[in-house]
Amino acid sequence: MKINILGGGPAGLYFAILMKKHDPSHEINVVERDGPNDTFGWGIVFSETTLDNFAQYDRETYAEFMNAGQMRDFVVVRHKDETIHIGGNPIMGVARLRWLQILHKRCRELGVTLRFNTNVTDVSDYLDCDLLVGADGANSLVRKAYEAFLMPSIEIRQNKFIWLGTEQSFDGLTMMFKPAEVGLFISHSYRFSETHSTFIVECPPETWLKAGFEKMSDDETCAYLANVWKEELGGRSLLSNNFVRWLNFPLIKVRQWYHTPQSGANIVLLGDTLHTAHFSIGSGTKLAMEDSIALADCFIRCDTVEAVLPEFQRVRKPVVDRFQAAAVRSLSWLEEVEKYLHLDPVPFTYRLMTRSKRVGFNRLKRADPKFADRYDAWRKAQPQHGPIPDEFLDLFQKKSFAHLATLMPDGTPHVTSVYVDYDGKYILINSARGRVKDKNMEQRRHVAIQIPDPDNTDRYLAIRGPVVEITEEGADAHLDQLARRYLDKDFYPPSMRFPGEVRCIYKIEPKHVTTWNPFG
Ligand SMILES: Cc1cc2nc3c(=O)[nH]c(=O)nc-3n(C[C@H](O)[C@H](O)[C@H](O)COP(=O)(O)OP(=O)(O)OC[C@H]3O[C@@H](n4cnc5c(N)ncnc54)[C@H](O)[C@@H]3O)c2cc1C
Repeated sequence: MKINILGGGPAGLYFAILMKKHDPSHEINVVERDGPNDTFGWGIVFSETTLDNFAQYDRETYAEFMNAGQMRDFVVVRHKDETIHIGGNPIMGVARLRWLQILHKRCRELGVTLRFNTNVTDVSDYLDCDLLVGADGANSLVRKAYEAFLMPSIEIRQNKFIWLGTEQSFDGLTMMFKPAEVGLFISHSYRFSETHSTFIVECPPETWLKAGFEKMSDDETCAYLANVWKEELGGRSLLSNNFVRWLNFPLIKVRQWYHTPQSGANIVLLGDTLHTAHFSIGSGTKLAMEDSIALADCFIRCDTVEAVLPEFQRVRKPVVDRFQAAAVRSLSWLEEVEKYLHLDPVPFTYRLMTRSKRVGFNRLKRADPKFADRYDAWRKAQPQHGPIPDEFLDLFQKKSFAHLATLMPDGTPHVTSVYVDYDGKYILINSARGRVKDKNMEQRRHVAIQIPDPDNTDRYLAIRGPVVEITEEGADAHLDQLARRYLDKDFYPPSMRFPGEVRCIYKIEPKHVTTWNPFG
């Protein structure tokens, strides 16, 4: 089989390696715009699980990586002049250029043809093959050329960021929050070599404008930011390599991952070309390389390219969708972080660590019991605002459907799905006169309610208690309020109501409250 790969980043190179290992008779060409010693950016990081995966697929590159990389165990958060270390988060950092060179060497050993300094301007020049792989990154030409079939979407996110380096050593994945005169700055840094750390700076657009970065030269930008972080950088400078450019993060998704025309080369996309994951969850390179693993695996299981490509999308897309969803939660949290800055360092760090919803209290406790205990002590010392624990109040802001159990006149249970609300004292249900639940609650004033988190159904609130009041007063206005939350509409649509319907609010006292978050 002849494979042309456009783009010699981690995705394209790793796919070339795995395919050549699978069948040395494949003719594989990688075409790359840059030279073998050019790169943008500084270091990249991988978690231990990702590295185990690499070990399984290619021992040689894994072994070289382990020699070149820097292992760290901590996430470090600096907020309000306090630094908190959270252990149990092992990551390995390496210079991006070093990682690419390891992949280049392995490609050459296996007989992959690498064509550097070749800027592709017309994809059709490379269609003389069985498979054309678009691995040409976030600004992909291949994706553009086939966009009518692939249906990409690109959402430009709010915050500005810039990828810099420094000789100051940041041991552990370090995030620092710095309110300056012009506004908030956030840094993401980690050590990736004996001498250097990556230092990404992120800020809201208002900060960026006020600081006047638009008119600054590269050197002025680095100097300005080094001054913002003077204390944390120990007076060291911030450095650039080919890439002093402020960007807005492009959130890329592609609906159809491949194109199989009636004749000619089949097309498939990999890595950043297909999807971007925000740097705050550090998974871009991991995802890119795991795409390559998944696609190469499909070539082992399926006989034809036409069978491989849909199989690749079937197995891989759900995994990528989950990661992207977590990355979006993470970047959205950072876009809104100013509303959490008033928090003390411990609760702030807890919110930060759990922002993507992939980590909850139990996972944090396994990773770093001491930090979890500190958070728990803080939480217990807080005045309880009502019968529902504060960390579950988010369920009343989301589109959470409650399962409401009432009793029929013959004593058998009845369950129904309802909108649910909470006024700080009572759980509020809104229904209409004459419905089964209305009759049941009028006659037997005890209910049970379960409210699962729509983002994670393992997490839920379970409540039992009496219906202390049923009132028509304010019920229509309350229904409109629920419509804003559940339907994104200003008013509950009249078409969804029965003629002459009389709405009621049912106030339930949460006498017994159970929370459940087993895997969080
Ligand atoms: C600020 C920032 C920080 C990041 N931090 C991390 C991190 O800590 N950990 C992590 O895992 N990931 C990180 N990433 C993400 C990571 O860089 C990418 O997700 C990863 O490199 C994707 O690999 P790829 O092979 O799909 O694409 P790329 O690495 O972008 O490779 C695409 C290649 O295609 C080449 N190319 C493009 N157009 C053409 C053309 N027309 N002709 C020929 N060649 C072309 C490019 O030169 C490039 O070499 C970060 C990204 C940013 C922006």
